[in-house]
Amino acid sequence: MASQPFWEVTPLHRMTTVQWEALCDRCGRCCLEKLTNRRNGKVYYTSIACPLLDPASCQCRDYRDRRRHVPNCLQLTPRNLPSCRWLPRTCAYRLLLEDKPLPEWHPLVSGDPDAVHAAGISIRGKELHALPTEGVPLESYIVDWGIWAKKARVD
Ligand code: SF4
Ligand code: SF4
Repeated sequence: MASQPFWEVTPLHRMTTVQWEALCDRCGRCCLEKLTNRRNGKVYYTSIACPLLDPASCQCRDYRDRRRHVPNCLQLTPRNLPSCRWLPRTCAYRLLLEDKPLPEWHPLVSGDPDAVHAAGISIRGKELHALPTEGVPLESYIVDWGIWAKKARVD
């Protein structure tokens, strides 16, 4: 009998470092600047990307040493995950925290690291900006996150 995949049977706080890291689908979405509505707490993603984000691979250019360049980059852990309400709905960490299954395009499910890009979930091919243009409000850079979420079929 085939054994169940580790993410279905292992609680997040019991995962090994390798398992925990494997949950990341490498979408790159969490490395975009976000805006939070102070009144209702709603989070909006913008097309302003972290300077270390590589738009082709959708990964950090210097993950191991990233805090030397971006001191406020958060290390996601099982402990701080529940407070990271800004993670996108498609994020595997958020999905498992909410007792939802991983989608079919997730690399662990599909076996294909490119499936996340083919499904339009990642930042690959999206119009990104390094910095906001002077005088242009950050709100102008909000991306249509709803479309991405719909494609992800996790709503
Ligand atoms: S949003 Fe989640 S799955 Fe996507 S890159 Fe960030 S941590 Fe990984
Ligand atoms: S430093 Fe790296 S991991 Fe952190 S937000 Fe920037 S690109 Fe993402």
